[in-house]
Amino acid sequence: MGHWSYTKGLHDLGNGCWGYIVPDGSWGWSNAGMVTDGDACLLVDTLFDLKCTAEMLEVMRASIPAAKEIGVLVNTHADGDHTFGNQLVQGARIIGTEGTVTDFDRFDPALLHGIAQNPDQFGKAGHFMAECFRPFDFSGITLTPPTETFRDRMTLMVGDKRVELIEVGPAHSLGDTLIYVPDDKVVYTGDILFSEGTPIAWYGPVKRWIDACNIVLEMDVEVVVAGHGPISTKEDVRRMRDYLVDMTERARPLYEAGLSYLDAAYKIDLGEYRDWNDAERIIVTLRTLWDDFEEAPTRPVHVPIPFFAEMAEMREHLGKPSVHHDYFCNHDH
Ligand SMILES: [Zn+2]
Ligand SMILES: [Zn+2]
Repeated sequence: MGHWSYTKGLHDLGNGCWGYIVPDGSWGWSNAGMVTDGDACLLVDTLFDLKCTAEMLEVMRASIPAAKEIGVLVNTHADGDHTFGNQLVQGARIIGTEGTVTDFDRFDPALLHGIAQNPDQFGKAGHFMAECFRPFDFSGITLTPPTETFRDRMTLMVGDKRVELIEVGPAHSLGDTLIYVPDDKVVYTGDILFSEGTPIAWYGPVKRWIDACNIVLEMDVEVVVAGHGPISTKEDVRRMRDYLVDMTERARPLYEAGLSYLDAAYKIDLGEYRDWNDAERIIVTLRTLWDDFEEAPTRPVHVPIPFFAEMAEMREHLGKPSVHHDYFCNHDH
């Protein structure tokens, strides 16, 4: 734990850099950020629904003069919890990797809305998705993907401040991007860092995600704003990288013994990681590791919804409370 409080809202990182942090970092509760210099302003990601994003933009505009007019929005990746509020950032350039734009095809807010309203039609997967996404309202969302794309690297100027966009996907998603502000020693990682929670490797190779962690570890940074969880440091990146390294090492013998990824999920020694939030995500990461180990010439593309049934069973097996249990106990909804 650093010296930052883990409270909802805007956190001043100094020199015009900000983190917008949303505890508890579990399913759907994502972070965003802002980089400013003078009147110039860059927004890092939006949130999972219009209400959450509108609230965030209001808080930013009330506290940061430059936020009155957001010139640039950068999406760290395509996942809805980082992009579904994009339509509210009117007039901004929206920038992301080519992979991120391709990845937008995976998401249909109307489908998610339908599942949340009527989970029965998707069985166990539907019920777990409805549980994961119950704090959110997916009505009224129009997918608004980036209009400017790049590959590998892109340098932006925010006022006189240099911001480096560094493509590190496919890893967690198809188009993961780090947003690095070298002069301020700040990096926004998107979901390359889940801080105090379990990462989920939708794409991989997992090795590529480990490499992305190593890129962050080699940066001269003091503050790391994760995609989920509290404001972090390199120590948190190291801890999450070790999870990916350890899971890869512990999974390989199970793969070589001929187990399916699903059987392996119940056999693998999670060790200390069993206590991490949302540990059921090991299911998806093992599926990706199985593809990694297979070394097939083309990687298969998996439909995400069925994984939610498998993760629901794993979560029960691990004896975890329902997702957002604390949120719904502490709030009057
Ligand atoms: Zn994500
Ligand atoms: Zn996320």
